[in-house]
Amino acid sequence: MPHFINVILPIPLQRLFTYKITQAEVNFLEQGMRVVVPFGKSKLYTAIVFSIHKEAPTAYKAKEIYQILDKTPIITAQQFKHWQWLASYYMCTLGEVLRAALPSAFLLESETLIVQNSLFDEETILSDDEFLIFEALQHQSDLKIKDVSAIIQKKHVVSLIHSLLKKGLVELKESLYQKYKPKFEKYVKINKKYLDKNALNTFLNQLKNAPKQRELVLQFFTLSPKGNKSIVAKKLLEKAQSTAAVLKVLETKEFFDIFYEQIDRVQFVNDIVKAKTLSKSQNLALNDINESFKIKDVCLLHGVTSSGKTEIYVSLIQEVLKQDKQVLFLLPEIALTTQLISRLKAYFGSTLAVFHSKYSLNERVEVWQNLLENSDKGKIIIGARSAVLLPFSNLGLIVVDEEHESSYKQFDPAPRYHARDVAIVLAHIHKAKVILGSATPSVESYFNAQNNKYGLVALSERFGAGTLPNIELIDLKEKYKKKQMNGFFSDVLLEGIKNRLAENKQIILFQNRRGYAPIVTCTSCGVVPHCPNCDVSLTLHKIKNNLQCHYCGFHEPLENKCKACNNPTLSTQGFGTEQIVATLQDLLPNVPIGRMDFDTTRGKYAYQKIISDFERGDTKILVGTQMLAKGLDFSNVTLVGVLQADSMLNFPDFRAHERSFQLLQQVAGRSGRNASKGKVIIQTFNPFHKILQQVKAHAYFEMYAEQLNERCQHQYPPYLRMVKIILKHKNPTKLYKASDWLGKSLNLTFNNTVLGPTDPPIPRIRNLYAKTFLIKFSKNQQLKKSKLRLLKVKDSFMAIAEFRSVRFIIDVDNY
Ligand code: ADP
Ligand code: ZN
Repeated sequence: MPHFINVILPIPLQRLFTYKITQAEVNFLEQGMRVVVPFGKSKLYTAIVFSIHKEAPTAYKAKEIYQILDKTPIITAQQFKHWQWLASYYMCTLGEVLRAALPSAFLLESETLIVQNSLFDEETILSDDEFLIFEALQHQSDLKIKDVSAIIQKKHVVSLIHSLLKKGLVELKESLYQKYKPKFEKYVKINKKYLDKNALNTFLNQLKNAPKQRELVLQFFTLSPKGNKSIVAKKLLEKAQSTAAVLKVLETKEFFDIFYEQIDRVQFVNDIVKAKTLSKSQNLALNDINESFKIKDVCLLHGVTSSGKTEIYVSLIQEVLKQDKQVLFLLPEIALTTQLISRLKAYFGSTLAVFHSKYSLNERVEVWQNLLENSDKGKIIIGARSAVLLPFSNLGLIVVDEEHESSYKQFDPAPRYHARDVAIVLAHIHKAKVILGSATPSVESYFNAQNNKYGLVALSERFGAGTLPNIELIDLKEKYKKKQMNGFFSDVLLEGIKNRLAENKQIILFQNRRGYAPIVTCTSCGVVPHCPNCDVSLTLHKIKNNLQCHYCGFHEPLENKCKACNNPTLSTQGFGTEQIVATLQDLLPNVPIGRMDFDTTRGKYAYQKIISDFERGDTKILVGTQMLAKGLDFSNVTLVGVLQADSMLNFPDFRAHERSFQLLQQVAGRSGRNASKGKVIIQTFNPFHKILQQVKAHAYFEMYAEQLNERCQHQYPPYLRMVKIILKHKNPTKLYKASDWLGKSLNLTFNNTVLGPTDPPIPRIRNLYAKTFLIKFSKNQQLKKSKLRLLKVKDSFMAIAEFRSVRFIIDVDNY
């Protein structure tokens, strides 16, 4: 009886594919192992075994697998369950989830190399094609699949490679699939007997005539004052400006002991810091959370900025570690939260591992393996949203810090998931607990807490003697009228800045726009330079002296005359961070100013440098975009200025007001984080705007109640569910036709409850035009059934030949 496996391929096709396996393979294979399979005409893919069975496929003849890559599964049973939920809820394929979850080192494909098998028996009879390959491999050490195809001048080569493999002429180059190579580091430590002072002195005396050795020993003690720490050999030699030979001599004399250790590529500090003792209100909150966990799986910790939420997480994590369980700590963005990560590293040392898409493949593979093995090195994983897809085997707690952050939502590509919601499902599978933390919870989470779905614990005071900053709104209309503006700075803000500088305090300035000016216009003809690929104006970047599109990356040099009328009458409108720094530098020539935005933070360590320059006081003022709102903790900042709060309030989105409140409260929260009183100055043309008034009063609940009311009236989440559909195509006429068809079909299926087709705020990006549809599902509607109906509509759409090239995107919970 033949056996088969169903596999997940890392491609966006809905179904699983069936392959044939041998009896020997049946006994070896398990769900969650990787196999290499042929696919299509000449492709090879790494696939994941999903199930093993005896049913031959009816629609096609099952091919055989090429190779098994693992000895044990690399994906856990819980992960499969989780991924299936994800694919079904977010209406994507398991293959798309697989791609998002697995470090790509695990998923090599058509690039696979074919090499000669050294055990090949030359007596074997070869066909003509086979001989050609054999010959080619005498000159070339490896061939790609397309090379094989070129040599035999045939398109279909899978069966040929198959037979070559069978005859033992070739093999697939193993090294490709080899697990990453662990990195070893050379360490030096002192022979224990020299930790004794007398023994050490005697030894040093013996080195009187060996100054180089003596120097090396002394330098060791500058790195490890008590002598009890192991030091990286390279570091020691650098410090002492010495050589490996000198070190070797001291090893022979049995003074030093040299050893190698496999290092995690992500390094940790050696000294573990003891956690802080919680204050009375922190302890109360911790108890409340633990009480809430007895009856509910999710608890929302609503703690104002700088109330000490992190220390509470630390206590919760310590409890879970005692039970030998794993912890997932989710952050909105890794690069922006290095301060928090260092704090946690100091508490947890190497039990904490960072998972970051910017780390190398090998580093990510390491985290994956450590988790699978439930190793001590990866007990706590800290990462951004994709960390929810990791192979936890024994999860006890998930912390979702800054749970309101929009970066938890992935918009492109599929799976378009929200990491907070996916985390809650993950926790459920593991019977683990979830703590959601924020100073400005999302309306949905607070709603869930109010409705007893989640527990709710509040921390309404800042830690220690700190109090919430005083927020002042400045009316720009009035300031301009009374001529009390200096560039973009009102007299109040500028005075504030000068006063703080005089007190040797620091200042943060916020403007949610990068570049010099978002719009350039010609005062003669009124033409505004636009991006050729997108429907947006080009932003002026003075430092680079060019005009840039912030959507597609297009840029062109700035010329000093208008392209349309040739007059040298270009002028700018609006301002971004670059211009703020420039004007401020003119006003305060000797003050060092830092800038933190997308343009200044591209390099790997760029953030770190900007942050530590400011931490050390090398820069006195830090100007930046919303990056500044994310959890930074600078104790010396006593003034935060918002240059213009208006643009975000007018964004066409039902969450614009909620988001503005969150952003402004978070930015304001950077002021006065220790005992000294903080001040926030917000400049605006609408000082009486409700949201600004609520920010000023720190009135979270008022904002929440009002937003909720509006959502109820206009039928938005959390009162119902939303699915957005986006069609994209480069040809607007075709798109128009397609969206017309889809609009009719959707309205037929969903009883005229569909909004659309609508033009998105930017109708064309990267030369792709877009139309959107919004479907609102009432809460008691059977969501699963509705989604299946939607998928059917999608299938019929895709079946229409002329629409096949139209991109059809489904975004569940698109907000
Ligand atoms: P949040 O995460 O709520 O914004 P943090 O956890 O960053 O607040 O705490 C704010 C500041 O107060 C930090 O500098 C932190 O070190 C300090 N802090 C918090 N709790 C304690 C404590 N129990 N003992 C000493 N310092 C604390
Ligand atoms: Zn563009």
